[in-house]
Amino acid sequence: MDWQSISLTSWGRLKQVPVRACTPRNSRDVSEAIRTVDERGLIAIGNCRSYGDVALNSNGFVVRTTQLNQIYSFDPASGEIVCDPCVTFQQLLREFLPRGYMAPVSPGTAFVSIAGAVANDVHGKNHDCFGSFGDHIKWIDLLLPSGEYVRVSPESRPDLFSATIGGIGLTGVMLAICFTMQKVPSNAVTVHEKRIADLDSFFVHLEDARRTATYSVGWIDALARGANLGRGILSIGEPSPIELMKSSPKRLKVPLDFPGFFLNSWSIGAFNQLYYRRIPSSGRERRTLLETFLYPLDSILEWNRIYGRRGFYQFQCVLPDELSPSGIRCLLEEIARTRLASFLVVLKTLRGEGLGYLSFPMRGYTLALDFPNKSGTTDLLARLERITLDHGGRIYLAKDACMTRNGFETMYPKLDLFRGVLDEIDPQIRMNSDLARRLGIRSSRRINAAANRRQHDKSLADSAIRQISTIPHTHMEKHRSSTMTIAEPHAIAKPNLLTVEDAKKLTASETAELFCNYINPGQFHFLKLLGFHEVIVDSAEGMYYTDKNGRKILDLFGGFGSVAPGHNHPRILAARKRFQEEQRHEIAIAFMSQYGATLAKNLAAIAPGDLDMVFLGSTGSEAIEAALKVAEKVQGPERSTIAYAVNSFHGKTRGALSVTDSAFYQSTFRLLDNRVRVPFGDASALETVFKQNPSIGTLILETVQGGAGIVLAPPEYWKEVRRLCDQYHVLWIADEVQCGVGRTGRFFAFEHANVVPDIVALAKSLGGGKSAMGAMIARRPIYMKAYGTPKTALIHAQATFGGIGEACCTAIEALNILYDEGLIENSAIQGAYLLERLKSLQNKYPKIIQEVRGQGLMVGIEFADFSQTLPIGLKQIVSVLDEKLKGSLCGFLGSLLLKEFNILVAFTEYNRNVIRIEPPLVIKREHIDTFIEALDNLLSRGITRIVTDYAKNFLRKG
Ligand code: PMP
Repeated sequence: MDWQSISLTSWGRLKQVPVRACTPRNSRDVSEAIRTVDERGLIAIGNCRSYGDVALNSNGFVVRTTQLNQIYSFDPASGEIVCDPCVTFQQLLREFLPRGYMAPVSPGTAFVSIAGAVANDVHGKNHDCFGSFGDHIKWIDLLLPSGEYVRVSPESRPDLFSATIGGIGLTGVMLAICFTMQKVPSNAVTVHEKRIADLDSFFVHLEDARRTATYSVGWIDALARGANLGRGILSIGEPSPIELMKSSPKRLKVPLDFPGFFLNSWSIGAFNQLYYRRIPSSGRERRTLLETFLYPLDSILEWNRIYGRRGFYQFQCVLPDELSPSGIRCLLEEIARTRLASFLVVLKTLRGEGLGYLSFPMRGYTLALDFPNKSGTTDLLARLERITLDHGGRIYLAKDACMTRNGFETMYPKLDLFRGVLDEIDPQIRMNSDLARRLGIRSSRRINAAANRRQHDKSLADSAIRQISTIPHTHMEKHRSSTMTIAEPHAIAKPNLLTVEDAKKLTASETAELFCNYINPGQFHFLKLLGFHEVIVDSAEGMYYTDKNGRKILDLFGGFGSVAPGHNHPRILAARKRFQEEQRHEIAIAFMSQYGATLAKNLAAIAPGDLDMVFLGSTGSEAIEAALKVAEKVQGPERSTIAYAVNSFHGKTRGALSVTDSAFYQSTFRLLDNRVRVPFGDASALETVFKQNPSIGTLILETVQGGAGIVLAPPEYWKEVRRLCDQYHVLWIADEVQCGVGRTGRFFAFEHANVVPDIVALAKSLGGGKSAMGAMIARRPIYMKAYGTPKTALIHAQATFGGIGEACCTAIEALNILYDEGLIENSAIQGAYLLERLKSLQNKYPKIIQEVRGQGLMVGIEFADFSQTLPIGLKQIVSVLDEKLKGSLCGFLGSLLLKEFNILVAFTEYNRNVIRIEPPLVIKREHIDTFIEALDNLLSRGITRIVTDYAKNFLRKG
């Protein structure tokens, strides 16, 4: 073995010690190293991250395990991993976090080696849930000081196992460790941080956190005194189900040893003030990388240099629960008095004893902090040790550099058991360290006895070592030569998928993050402008949404008229439940669906005249596409031109978009070129166009224009439309996607005019507010002409999800409810009442409300446009907001209605001055009264206050 004389220091940098060090490449090297050791003893050291002298061995031998850093196997099913001693938490993080696993317990830095974690039985911020590292060990392959190679597990060698967990490396050199990794939902954690005013509150909050949270940790301003003593910040973390996009945190590096005077009570006091005030007094919630949260110390590499060349002491003790309030207070008072503390002061809870004889944890509170190595520091540490002892506590060996022997013996009641195991396995005292000597772990009596026995045992031990040097062909060696192999499951690995339960638990900010990352970041901007982004709906019933906090929101938006029977109508839920329980079939492609056939029959029964033939799809756009196609097929290529109306909205699929009168939506998409635009509601203009353009074979019109701002044509218009279409042999498509299904007080809006179109498109409320359902209904002769033969039938046959079982079942029930509960009549009655009350509001605020209009429960309120006449000063306020809100009261009112009155209203596509009201048809007078009162309240404030109230909310939200 190649031994080198070097000097070594630990993380606290208190002293440089001369050692004879070797860096083995495999277990054979390690056993050779053990063989070489004399009375100066040996200790293994990994990444030099322990603070004091636990892994130093002045003038003795040191095995540096840095080259033993491979992972051998990982079983995703059990989470079991087998690795070398010097694999670090950092390595595990890089390798396994992307696969959804991480170490079950993590110390404050990821640079600790796994063997170091075992030897010190490290704990993390989740001790109350997960215990300490030793609790997760399955077995350890250990090279004993005798040179014997053993696999130590709680079953096979319980005593040796307990001596090795937290055994500060004195039982031998670990060659491989098997432990269980923890499954995590993502790389992120949701962290709640709050300011804690004093120590008593800290105990209350930590006590609560240890019961409810996965991770909890307190930072304490150790310079605060008097009433502020123990003030700080409590951070509570829960693994987040949602992946964070960024991969690894940014790191700074301390470039040099800071001068000794750098850390003084003034600079630390200033830092503590800033650090405390960084958290708003109301607290804050954020999502961050697990890595950032678990390993805060690693954000500044080589941070130990901040303490300068003389290094620092770290003190960490744990006090039992019952004595913690008084004990921690005594410790903090002592620390605050000397003004020696640093900024790294941590208070955590521990759930109970570890498995190791020398494990640090006990049920209680642990306080950890650094002290620069100055005059007076060791005196202070002696006083802290005294306080710890007086309160039945214990000091952490991984951190310690100056505890007394007596103190140690009192604090660690299982020391004798530990010594017993060492006597048995290491009578020659081959394993040793500065800490072991300082604390007299191997008592002098034993050392002398061992010296006497050393000669006697030497030949015995050597023969054992000879045997061991034949070990190398263990599975470890085989694996070590190859690169890491990870046992893959036979099945395809499941990506990091969220579950339904995960979805349910998403907070508003998590949902927003997913929405922005995976759906539509730009749209989020508008939700935010309106304050709609803060609502996460927990449930919906009848007229109301209920959010996660139990807030009830009156729904006058109704999904643009998609919820005719009200949210979650009990009959619809029951029908769907029956459908599920009876395990009905969904996909109606190979076999016909009774439900699809029934729904079609019902629609034909509702639709007047010979509007009998039904195509079932899932959306309004799909119904429109089907309508356009059936017309085109009938009319043929000569008459394929489609007339559509000014300000129409028919959907965003290509055909529907082509006849949607919006340069904005049409954008730069390639559209159908066979189309002409006609004014809406103007029969003579229509006639002119028909006359001029004989290629027009189709006319598509919304019976009530929704996107245009609830625009109705004059009543006589529709009779003219029918007459002109008949005269010019044009097929009339009535788009009743929004205004159909009872919305206007008749099932179809065209029924008010006593006319029958050739083709109708329905969707929205057809699905009963519960399923996606669209339908095209064509007059029988038209349909038959287009697709009536076996030859043509398949041109048009339903798409995969057309006529899908449960959606049809829902629609059947919705249609029945509509009639059974008189909802169409209710729409007419409540719609008239709503219009009447709005008209009186218009009389009250004639300058603000320009017009109210509508039919049934499809109502628009048009506000005066203030874009040009905004009062001075308001223009500036409004100009920081979005274009869309400029000069239009709708956004401000909509936002305030939600914020202050829990009422949800809708806006329109083309007329930014119109608020759209399309509630469930189950609405009652009292709902309308509530809305009118709220609107009255808002309008009575006048425009200036409406805008400033909005702006205040908006700016407050940031
Ligand atoms: N036509 C009209 C009149 C509509 O209001 C809509 C949707 N707002 C559509 C068609 C398109 O329906 P969908 O969004 O379901 O595709």
